[in-house]
Amino acid sequence: MVLTIISLFIVYSIIPTIAIRSLSIGIFKKSHTKGQASLTFDDGPDQLYTPMLLDLFKKYNVKATFFVVGEHAKKNPDIIKRMHEEGHTIGIHHYKHVSNWFLMPWQVRKQCKMTADLIESMIGVRPIYYRPPWGHLNLFIHWGAKPFRLILWSAILGDWKLSLGKDRLKKRLQEHIKDGAVIVLHDNGENPGADERAPENTISAVTEYLEENHGKYDFVSVHTLYEDEHRNRV
Ligand SMILES: [Zn+2]
Repeated sequence: MVLTIISLFIVYSIIPTIAIRSLSIGIFKKSHTKGQASLTFDDGPDQLYTPMLLDLFKKYNVKATFFVVGEHAKKNPDIIKRMHEEGHTIGIHHYKHVSNWFLMPWQVRKQCKMTADLIESMIGVRPIYYRPPWGHLNLFIHWGAKPFRLILWSAILGDWKLSLGKDRLKKRLQEHIKDGAVIVLHDNGENPGADERAPENTISAVTEYLEENHGKYDFVSVHTLYEDEHRNRV
């Protein structure tokens, strides 16, 4: 009995996650656009850290993408509105930060729909992009995620751990920001597995990176990167 449950779990959760991610089936991880890259932020918004990032992006003319958790968005409607007004893309990161490994397909749909409804009620525009928490997928993810576009990443830098430190994070930014990159960072440390103050390092490292590499890349939202990539393929 236990073995059957474990086998079913592996078939439903682990194998599809590995297969879909490694073969890039129906997901977007990076583009081939030269000179452009995307900074994406999961888990927010956060009352303290997200406005600091928005100030920074205004200064450096960066357009970012925020994959927000519905229950955090609900508490911070002004931040959601500000993201939208300042030209950033708002995507879905479930209503609660729960893994698709433990959700039935209709529960995945509900998580996405509830978050999309909430964002739409705040800014009048429905999100079209979705990044699953931890990048966890399941056997029916393409049905569950419909009609949203599944976005993963070209590099995930481990910034949810405070012990990574600002300098190592900056080094990782320098290594992984390249043409067409989609970089995952975090603007909130309240979700399971994250350190509460970890976004302090993220903000410091991104600030120093932008100061030192100003003009090297055009930081655009995932929407711009995605649209350019798909236009160029046609
Ligand atoms: Zn997350």
